[in-house]
Amino acid sequence: MKIKVGVSSCLLGNNVRYDGNNKLDTYIKETLGRHVAFIPVCPEVEYGLPVPREAMHLVGNPVSPRIITVNTRIDHTEGMKKWVNKRLDLLEGAGLSGFIFKSKSPSSGLKDVPVYDEHGRLIGHGRGIFARSFVERFPLLPVIDEVDLADPVFRRRFFRDLFSYHKNRLNPLYRPSSGYGYR
Ligand code: SF4
Repeated sequence: MKIKVGVSSCLLGNNVRYDGNNKLDTYIKETLGRHVAFIPVCPEVEYGLPVPREAMHLVGNPVSPRIITVNTRIDHTEGMKKWVNKRLDLLEGAGLSGFIFKSKSPSSGLKDVPVYDEHGRLIGHGRGIFARSFVERFPLLPVIDEVDLADPVFRRRFFRDLFSYHKNRLNPLYRPSSGYGYR
């Protein structure tokens, strides 16, 4: 059975981004895709937003930011969080051994996502709404974004953790041998 890996849908070439485009990563789709079974997730589209749509960004406290449309200032935080909890319940039963996130996204970004104040000034960096809840729900699951995956050192470590997690995922006493430095 192939290792199951969750992935931000736009990285597989699906046209789900706010501008109607994708962020195809051919290494992930073609090379890695020969060895693993992907479970694509697009939080914004699965939550119910259209394609194309108005861009969103993170606003407020970088530790617990809100997700708001950039121009019309519609706050999707509560709705997204409700959807995220249901989606994570489904993913819990999906048998994932890792997840590859799209960097810098206010929904999917794992780290370094810009956070603004109410006036649009950059005040810090944080995690996307979906990515934050994901790592809180699955703290031992290997995760990475496509930028770090392109780095040979991080990539090697992610693969080591991915295969180790897959092999040991049914062992309740299993703990990864090292912390996830790429988080
Ligand atoms: S970054 Fe995440 S929310 Fe944005 S298009 Fe890609 S999968 Fe969807």
